[in-house]
Amino acid sequence: MSNNYKIKLFQDEAARCINELYKKGYLPNEKMGDVSVRDPESGYVFISLKPGTLPLRELSEYHGSDIAVVDKDGNPVTHHTIPSDNLALHLAVYKARPDVNCIIHTYPIWSSLFSERKEALPYVLVEQVEASTNVKCVESAPSMTKEYINEVVEKLGDQIYVLLYHFGSLSVGANVDHAINYLAWMESVARKITHASMIGELKYINNTVGQLVTEGFEYNTGTNYNVFNDYDQILFKEEVARGTRLLNLRGYSPSGESGDTSVRDLKTGLIYISGSPTWCFQRDLRDARGWERFVTDINETIYVPWSEPTCEWPMHVAIYRKRPDVGAIVHTHGEWASVFACIGMDVPLSIIGEGLTGVIPCAKFANAGTHEVANNTAEALVAADCCIMSNHGAVAVGRTMDEAMDKVAWMEQACQKAYYAILASGGVKADARKAIQKLSAE
Ligand SMILES: [Zn+2]
Repeated sequence: MSNNYKIKLFQDEAARCINELYKKGYLPNEKMGDVSVRDPESGYVFISLKPGTLPLRELSEYHGSDIAVVDKDGNPVTHHTIPSDNLALHLAVYKARPDVNCIIHTYPIWSSLFSERKEALPYVLVEQVEASTNVKCVESAPSMTKEYINEVVEKLGDQIYVLLYHFGSLSVGANVDHAINYLAWMESVARKITHASMIGELKYINNTVGQLVTEGFEYNTGTNYNVFNDYDQILFKEEVARGTRLLNLRGYSPSGESGDTSVRDLKTGLIYISGSPTWCFQRDLRDARGWERFVTDINETIYVPWSEPTCEWPMHVAIYRKRPDVGAIVHTHGEWASVFACIGMDVPLSIIGEGLTGVIPCAKFANAGTHEVANNTAEALVAADCCIMSNHGAVAVGRTMDEAMDKVAWMEQACQKAYYAILASGGVKADARKAIQKLSAE
């Protein structure tokens, strides 16, 4: 491949990153952040322009050929456009992190609530622990001095995200899609924790990961893939893949790749479950494919040893064991169910205006991917079709994938209504003027 052609491909990738962030609302205009992509082979860095370099009406007009290109020390490789003023920060992160090939600097809304208080993200949800995301906050005022850049590199450490006082946040990943997912993910964690803190006491968890049930198993990637390919088996695998894609498409997977689904063939007893997103090497859950699905039964037999399942697969199995009527399960880290998960509370249905009584029960906390969490969740679903999972997310069950998905949709709305009903009916009323005074004095 000619060098110029390769440069163009990386420029296109950086422009795609900017376009995606603009579409998703993370980059309202070119002053609100900068992104870069690195070619690990040449070490070239492809970075946003200094704002105002081009007369753009909006960021969707940014094209690959506009992107500035420099070598690893910042010397220009192309000369027609001017790189962002924050180039030195990007270069320093790349020097410290050979695993990183994309850096996104933006001013995201929910993260800034923490960064402006100079606070790290507390551990409240197991999704933070699972990925050991220890998100710290850089407390110095921003500048491009050596001291400041060193503090950013040090606080970022080997993590995927770091908060920056008065300067937004950095999200880093091995590629553009990972860095965008991480940004969306940490924003959703910050948002869930903030919403929850407004109606109750947050339940903190420590950052020790439980012993994953998956850890004992060896998955053999060299096995013959051509089994479990009877027509109905293919249909079941495709149905789980469709459910997994729906998690993302319907917005129940704020990070892009959290949550999982399964279906059971009530005739054969075979259970088909989502693959682990890392193992599938997905961009996000929209990439889920049938052949990657994991096949098991209520005795946890492994039928497809090449396929690594989601770490939550024992939970699916435990629920099927307790509920012989259930043919599909959907587990989400959905926005509003997670708010109640952060405070470990049952969701009262009498206040949501649907003439219902009772609650959406909240299952007891246990570490993700353990038999303990599997049993706690299955227990909560003995008498209900939906439940919250403390410090984690939610689960809905049904006879079919669509029935379970409908229940997830209902549950998310019920949680949102309950949340606002609680907030609107008194609670602590924020006073805008007092809040502004307090915040500006800090
Ligand atoms: Zn989960």
